[in-house]
Amino acid sequence: MQSVGVVSKNVKTIPLAGLQLTQPLDSIAFQKTISKPVSCTGVGVHSNKPATLTLRPASAGSGYIFVRTDVPKSSQRIPARWDTVTDTVMCTKITNEVGVSISTIEHVIAALAGCGVFNALIEVDGPEVPIMDGSSSEFVDLIHQACVHQLSKPTRKIKILKPIEVKSGTSSAAFKPANETKYMMKFNANGRLNNQEWSLTFYPEQDDFCNLLSSARTFGFYEDAQHLWSQGMAQGASLENTIVIKDGQVMNEEGLRFSDEFIRHKMLDAIGDLALAGAPLVGHFVGVNSGHALNNQLLRAFFSDKTAWSY
Ligand SMILES: [Zn+2]
Repeated sequence: MQSVGVVSKNVKTIPLAGLQLTQPLDSIAFQKTISKPVSCTGVGVHSNKPATLTLRPASAGSGYIFVRTDVPKSSQRIPARWDTVTDTVMCTKITNEVGVSISTIEHVIAALAGCGVFNALIEVDGPEVPIMDGSSSEFVDLIHQACVHQLSKPTRKIKILKPIEVKSGTSSAAFKPANETKYMMKFNANGRLNNQEWSLTFYPEQDDFCNLLSSARTFGFYEDAQHLWSQGMAQGASLENTIVIKDGQVMNEEGLRFSDEFIRHKMLDAIGDLALAGAPLVGHFVGVNSGHALNNQLLRAFFSDKTAWSY
């Protein structure tokens, strides 16, 4: 198993604003947002419609809020949380209380969470986040361009207190209690790819997400394309934004960015999916061929059991 980013740190108890926090000294974390608005433009991978995305600063405790600038002001805001997810087929879609939705939120959320940013307004002028190059790297570049801004309130972390697992066929997603945040994954696309494994001990203060995962692109099988197109999906998918696998071979001329790019992207997706918990999780995540649907089911099972977690 490839294991990266594991470091040992001195652990001390520090009084902070009346709280006793036991965690690594240099990771006493304050909530973060970005310093200034930044924008990018691309197309929706499913809609094939052009879309401009603007990241804006948000106050502590705001979380992630999407703002659909193409609909009336009273219905523009869509909070991105595990309980606003309404569809997980091929992407993650969220919907607000008046039925306004936005799709394919996972890669920009992964970029924000990977950079330790849990408060942001994300404006989009249409129903789908632009896919850019199919990874999170252009969103990470935007965040770096804007600069991460530390807010004055400490980060509230969610501690996993007991094991929780959800399954679908041979796929599974599980949380296990631990004192660190670690993501482990096994993936073979249910037998369509060679077995790949990855694990990452996740410290937001480090750049592991940016360096190791953020540029891993989404992928699909050529054999599935006809079916997806007939369902109205993947209309904007191309070799510019998707790794396409045909008869076990990568069709993209430039090849893969990493020999294990597929599982790196699955890790990226899981970081985006689990960030919808609303705060960093403390504990282990173990995914076996899990994707957006199972990851969201895991959060639903987790939060519905009040004995499974605490702040
Ligand atoms: Zn993805």
